[in-house]
Amino acid sequence: MLRILLISAIGLIAIGAGLLHFRFDLAVAALSADSPPPLLEKRELSASERWFDDYYTIDTIDERTHVIGEPRASGPVFSYLIEGRDRAILFDIGYPSANILPVVESLTDKPVLAVPSHLHYDHVGNLERFDQIALLDTPQRRAQMYGDIFSPTHTQYLGSAEGHDIPSWKITKWLSDGETIDLGDRTIRVVFTPGHTDESISIWDEANNQFFTGDYIYEGPLYAFLPNSSLSDYLKVAENLLLTLPRETKLYTAHRMNITGTPVLEMRDIVALRDTLEAVRDGDISGTGFFPTRYPVNERIDLDADIPWYQDW
Ligand SMILES: [Zn+2]
Repeated sequence: MLRILLISAIGLIAIGAGLLHFRFDLAVAALSADSPPPLLEKRELSASERWFDDYYTIDTIDERTHVIGEPRASGPVFSYLIEGRDRAILFDIGYPSANILPVVESLTDKPVLAVPSHLHYDHVGNLERFDQIALLDTPQRRAQMYGDIFSPTHTQYLGSAEGHDIPSWKITKWLSDGETIDLGDRTIRVVFTPGHTDESISIWDEANNQFFTGDYIYEGPLYAFLPNSSLSDYLKVAENLLLTLPRETKLYTAHRMNITGTPVLEMRDIVALRDTLEAVRDGDISGTGFFPTRYPVNERIDLDADIPWYQDW
């Protein structure tokens, strides 16, 4: 009898370990859908925002910096058009289910370089509509090239969550960490900010105290539990940003949950994120939930991390 119980217990543990090992694939399978979810109701905009059409909004940070919002998407997302005298960068390209190009063309007649912060489907939708596309140069991405055509992997893209097939893009420029791009009378810097994914970047306009974060930080739950997320990278980047960015830098983020208008955070939010990451690493706070395990960062931000015994410190 004891032997049967022991064998059953070992069997259950083995099944449990197997399920945990494939926890991310199981979660993706559970969350996969054939099509995007219905659009959210139109909401009231902030004073500086306006509707471009029924779907996109436009906000203005300054005369050369515009925010293209998709507030009706299930996870509202914001892309940034950063213009110089001679050309512009579109940092993030939004969801695949609508066409962002007319919005961009209504704001600038300069050549536009499309630069995704990372390859999740809500940041690279519409990328194929652009002639000039730049990606961070990594050995993994180079290995995925077929001639000058790049296709993300399922894990890099995650579009199955809303029924999107894997896209392909013609890459025209490779970016490196720290590289500066001269837009004419305005220079921006590429900053490698892994954590959410292992290939994420942000864009820094030092002269204007603007830092465009991608998904490194935003108001809401930060996704640090994906298979290509890293808590130790998250912490290293926070420490680096606190050493590098002036205290008055404004952080323009790609998402927001509860606030209206363009999502802006401050350097104190990165301080809070660093403190939380250190406390998680040192076992000084316990999270709630299992996969992901959630830790509070401050009143606006949570950190969603992997199951504690799988965390990569
Ligand atoms: Zn993302």
